[in-house]
Amino acid sequence: MKFHSLNNPTEKVSFKDAVVAGIAPDKGLYFPEHITPLPTSFFENIASLSNQGIAFKAIHQFVSEDITDTQLQSILERVLDFDFPVVDIEDNVGTLELFHGPTMAFKDVGARFMANCLGCFSKEGEEVTVLVATSGDTGGAVANGFLGVEGVKVVILYPSGKVSEIQEKQLTTLGRNIKAIEVDGTFDDCQTMVKTAFLDKDITTSKKLTSANSINVARWLPQLFYFLFAYKQAKMQHKEIVFSIPSGNFGNICAGMVAQRLGMPVNHFIAATNINDTVPQFMASGSYRPKPSSVTISNAMDVGDPSNFIRIRHLYHNDFELLAKNLSSYAFDDDTTKQAMKSVYKKTGYVMDPHGAVGYLGLKKYQETHANTYGIFLETAHPIKFLDVVENNLDITLEIPPRIKSIMGKEKVATQIATYGELKSILKDS
Ligand SMILES: *Cc1c(COP(=O)(O)O)cnc(C)c1O
Repeated sequence: MKFHSLNNPTEKVSFKDAVVAGIAPDKGLYFPEHITPLPTSFFENIASLSNQGIAFKAIHQFVSEDITDTQLQSILERVLDFDFPVVDIEDNVGTLELFHGPTMAFKDVGARFMANCLGCFSKEGEEVTVLVATSGDTGGAVANGFLGVEGVKVVILYPSGKVSEIQEKQLTTLGRNIKAIEVDGTFDDCQTMVKTAFLDKDITTSKKLTSANSINVARWLPQLFYFLFAYKQAKMQHKEIVFSIPSGNFGNICAGMVAQRLGMPVNHFIAATNINDTVPQFMASGSYRPKPSSVTISNAMDVGDPSNFIRIRHLYHNDFELLAKNLSSYAFDDDTTKQAMKSVYKKTGYVMDPHGAVGYLGLKKYQETHANTYGIFLETAHPIKFLDVVENNLDITLEIPPRIKSIMGKEKVATQIATYGELKSILKDS
C-alpha cells in the first residue's frame, strides 16, 4: 500500500517514507492510495476479538509493506496496554473514555504508535528529529510516547505561561531524548517557528526533521482503533450507532470515517466544535472560509483552519451532498459548554472535561431529530487536565491521579527562547 499526496495523486511513497517525511514535498497531506474493506464477518464477530487483534486487522493493510507482522504485533502490545471503556451516562448516550493512557490524553495512542514505527525504521547513524509545537495536550503525549526511542530526538515548543501546570510538567520533566523549548510568545508563534524550520534548507540539508501532529499518517491513522473498540462494546445495543467527536484539527473524526470505509456499520458522524466553527459554517453554507482561531475553555480545539479537513473532503470525493449525508456539524460557546458540564454532573454524577462536553452537546443536538439512535461521544481528555475550569464550574475538588501526582514534584527543565534564530541554533547543535 502506497500513500499519495493530496496535492498530486501521482506523488506516491511508502508508509515509511510518508512517516519520516510527515508531509509531501509539494506540501500535500499523505493519504492511503486505497482502503480495502474488511470482511463482514470481522464486524459480526468483533466482540470475540481482543483490542490488539482488532487493531492488527484494521491497520495491517496500511503498514504491512514496511512493518512485519511480528513487529506490528509487538508495537500494538506496547501501544494498547490500557482500556477504552464506553460508559453509559444517559439513555442512548454513552461516552468513549479515551483518557486512560499514560498522559491521560487521547493523543497517547497516535503518539506511541508513531514513535514505535520510527523506532522500527531507525538505522544506526541515521537520526530523526521530531519537531512539534503544542498548545498543551499534544506535547505531553508526544514526549511520553517518544521517550527513550532509539534514533529519535524530540524538540517540543510551547508558549510560555499559556499551558496548564500539569501540561507543562508533562513535557518538561522527562529529559533524555526530549527537549522542551519555552517560547516567549503565543501558540501561533511556536507554530510559525516550526513551519519556518521545516522550510529552512540550512537545517534540512543536515537534519531529518519530521512532525508529530495529526498530519503525520502514523499519528493520524491509529485513531481509527477507537471507533472499532467502541463499536465492539455498543453493538449489543442493537440500535443505529452514531459518533460525536469534539473536533479541532479533525484528525480524530477523519480516522473514524476511515473505520467506516473499512466496513464498520456506522452511518453518521457528528463533528462538534467550540466557537471555532469553520466546519459547522461550511456544512451550513457550502463554502469553506478558514479564520484565525479564538481562545476557548476547550483549548485543544481552538483551530480556525483544521488541517485534516482536506482529508475528509477527499474521502467523500469532494462531493458536498455525499459528505452531508454522513456528517452533521454543530458549534457551541463556552457558556453552553459549562452548562452542559453542570447539568450532566447534577443529573448523573459524571464529570466531563470541556472537550467531552462539546461532544456531548453535539450528540444531544443530533438526537433531537434522531431519537432512535445509540450515541457515543468521545471523551478526549481526563477532567484533571482542565482542572481549573472543571473545579470552578462544578464546585468540586478533583482527586489528582497518581500518574499525574508523580510528575508534579519533578523539576522543570526548559530552554527559553524568543526568536527563530535561537531555535535554529538549537536544532543545528542538537
Ligand atoms: C487534540 C484534541 C482534540 C481535537 O482532536 P482533532 O483530531 O484535532 O480534531 C479534542 N480534544 C482534546 C482533549 C485534544 O487534545
